[in-house]
Amino acid sequence: MSKYKHLFFDLDGTLWDIHRNAELTLRQMFVQFEIDEALFESFNKAYLKHNARVWAMYREGSMTKEELRTARFSRSMDDIGFAYNAEWMEQFAAAFVEQCPRQPHVIPGALDILNYLDGKYTMHIITNGFKEIQGIKMDGSGLTPFFVHNINSEDVGVRKPNPKIFHYAFELAGTSAEESLMIGDDWDADILGARGVGMDQVFLKLDDHRHNVHPTFTITELIELKNIL
Ligand SMILES: [Mg+2]
Repeated sequence: MSKYKHLFFDLDGTLWDIHRNAELTLRQMFVQFEIDEALFESFNKAYLKHNARVWAMYREGSMTKEELRTARFSRSMDDIGFAYNAEWMEQFAAAFVEQCPRQPHVIPGALDILNYLDGKYTMHIITNGFKEIQGIKMDGSGLTPFFVHNINSEDVGVRKPNPKIFHYAFELAGTSAEESLMIGDDWDADILGARGVGMDQVFLKLDDHRHNVHPTFTITELIELKNIL
């Protein structure tokens, strides 16, 4: 019998396949904006680097949401020497926010494991993503019906790993850290965040990064949650 009653999932990169969905969107946008497809690979590589950096800056509060929307693309275009003006960049960034959330791909095994957990646990989302687009992602990928509460950093005014968002989540769900489990792919936001409020954690480890503290559990595929839950 598991001691856990409530499961809190991260959304982007844990359930919704943000890398695959973003790459598909950007490929389509290269056609739509008539950009030389030969530039795509180097652009995408630059995008992955800059996107991770600007999201880290957003989490730390050193970049606003508005700045992030365009900075991830303008920095990448600068890297590959693609010329644009401010108006073009605004349209490009707007197209991404419009199109990417409608991509349906989930992380392999996501729907299988959610079906397995459904009814055994009460499940919720805690996400740092933009409020207006997280619901579109969940609806379009079939994730919505599994979750009771969808806790967004914009509702709380702070982002994971800030303890406030986890305490808000416990209160909303009517539970405590002791009977809750956080499942996420981001070391700082999800794992150190949950650890900081005394909640057990499952780290979905998708790269080779090593860390000097051990999460409660580490998995490399979602289906391994069956061994824990
Ligand atoms: Mg994530």
